Amino acid sequence: MQSKLPNVGTTIFTVMSKMAQDYGAINLSQGFPDFDCPPRLRELVAAHLNDRKNQYPPMAGIPSLRQQIALKVRDYYGYDADPETEVTVTSGATEALFDAVQAVVGAGDEVIVFDPAYDSYEPAILLAGGKTIHVPLSLPDYAMDWDRLEQAINSKTRLIIINSPHNPCGSVLSRDDFDRLAALIRDHDILVLSDEVYEHMVYDGEKHESILAHSELREKSFAVFSFGKTYHATGWKLAYCVAPESLTTEFRKVHQFVTFTTSSFVQYAIADFMAECPEHTLELPAFYQEKRNTFCELITPSRFTFTPSNGTYFQLVDYSEISDRNDIEFANYLTQEKGVAAIPLAPFYAEPPATKIIRFCFCKDDSTLEKAAEILCKL
Ligand code: PMP
Ligand code: GLN
Repeated sequence: MQSKLPNVGTTIFTVMSKMAQDYGAINLSQGFPDFDCPPRLRELVAAHLNDRKNQYPPMAGIPSLRQQIALKVRDYYGYDADPETEVTVTSGATEALFDAVQAVVGAGDEVIVFDPAYDSYEPAILLAGGKTIHVPLSLPDYAMDWDRLEQAINSKTRLIIINSPHNPCGSVLSRDDFDRLAALIRDHDILVLSDEVYEHMVYDGEKHESILAHSELREKSFAVFSFGKTYHATGWKLAYCVAPESLTTEFRKVHQFVTFTTSSFVQYAIADFMAECPEHTLELPAFYQEKRNTFCELITPSRFTFTPSNGTYFQLVDYSEISDRNDIEFANYLTQEKGVAAIPLAPFYAEPPATKIIRFCFCKDDSTLEKAAEILCKL
């Protein structure tokens, strides 16, 4: 049988987490916290499960959760989304990204992604019959390369996928970036898919710029967010997409036949928690900034070099003073022989550059970060 995705293997996150487990390494690879979600949230999940919320919720998500999402979007990004027609709850951001791509990309359409690009984008594009156009972010800051983006746009361009805060680089887009993007696509029939799953992890007094705050761009955009990141519960796979009614209509046509709907009792619990504990999201940037600072301080004596991450819970480090290996070999060596797992960047590129950079995840208990740093400082 001819594979529909001949160049797709097992995602690097699964590969490295399994390697960490097999070799007993401290896992700073795949992005997930090793600490608990808010205890009150767990209580609410248990309460709704015990209340026998066992059956199919509405296809687009339970109304109270969509209402809470709309209130949140209004408070944070100043946009009054209609929970009935513009908000859809999905089984993880992965599903939302997939649905959006399937909804608008057809055979021969071109979709622009920025390398290093999160690994779920391209398979979704290929399954829709589209062609991925890879525009590299410019080094060393992983900033948008506006000239290359402009050159990549043509009459076949259907969608541009952006990601801020950016996984794996930690870079964030500014209001000015959004204005430039808006100007570039103004006279084209191009949509935007904005992956904002790390919206609450922006540091050093900066604030997250959402595409929903940009009145011109939001009219042509899907914005995707994940409760997994925000509530330290990546395993619950709950997320949402906010898009104008015309796009949401198409989005739901796909969503209803990919998953139809999403786990009931978790939806009820998060709706209650959002209403009860709005401080959780307000406190997140400081919480994660502290973790970033802790990790960066701990590895400062090492031979890794780095610029502290501006966003996400990832830190890129350059290991060129430590090894000549390429990043996949170095991540394997670090995991298998030194006991700390990391993510190489090559899998996120069509054409990996010769940089010697890997990604560590710092959403871990301080004791985990300390143990890992002890090893990293000896390299
Ligand atoms: N986009 C990016 C950039 C991510 O890092 C992740 C995370 N894992 C996702 C999407 C998928 O999120 P979810 O776990 O909610 O499917
Ligand atoms: N987004 C997470 C990361 O970057 C992993 C998600 C996954 O394992 N699919 O590590």
